[in-house]
Amino acid sequence: MIKELLTIESALELYVGIDLSSIRIKRKSFNISCPFHDDKYPSFTIWPKGRVWKCWAGCGSGDVINLIAAFFNIPNNQAIKLLANDLGIVNERSKLTIPPQYFYKAKKQKMEREMLEAFKKRYNEAFFRLLAIEKAMKEKTLSIKSIEKAEEKSLLYHHLPYLAHLLDVLVEGNFDDQVDTVLIIESILNGG
Ligand SMILES: [Zn+2]
Repeated sequence: MIKELLTIESALELYVGIDLSSIRIKRKSFNISCPFHDDKYPSFTIWPKGRVWKCWAGCGSGDVINLIAAFFNIPNNQAIKLLANDLGIVNERSKLTIPPQYFYKAKKQKMEREMLEAFKKRYNEAFFRLLAIEKAMKEKTLSIKSIEKAEEKSLLYHHLPYLAHLLDVLVEGNFDDQVDTVLIIESILNGG
């Protein structure tokens, strides 16, 4: 129940005080600086879907309960009590009650996940279509041999670096830049 209600990311934000809003979205996992040791290079990996974490420098690993136990330096059963209390989980005759704000939080998280999923679809569409266009342009450029086609060739050469730039931002940019770039690509592809 605790693991279902509280993600590793939420626990890091609520208990450890780590702001994850600027973290790059990756496919399966992402890294942050470990909150448990002096970490120059982010060695704390979070797998959002699996709801597990691991510090590769040896601070530990596990689920959200292990995370809270490690952060407060308490045994797991105390971490469970602490979290159950904070989450308002009351075990009366095996019936669990949760205060409304946690339903709200869970709903909000679900909505954010759905928005992210919708964005991922648009991102993939934009990325692969642009990649195909870049490939086609490169091949066309290579096949241009006649002088008559020089004008077209220069046009392609003007566009290729821009396409490469857009693809770079999609791969390496931060989340805000990726959103902007997807919108730019969509407007280009729609002839806008
Ligand atoms: Zn660590």
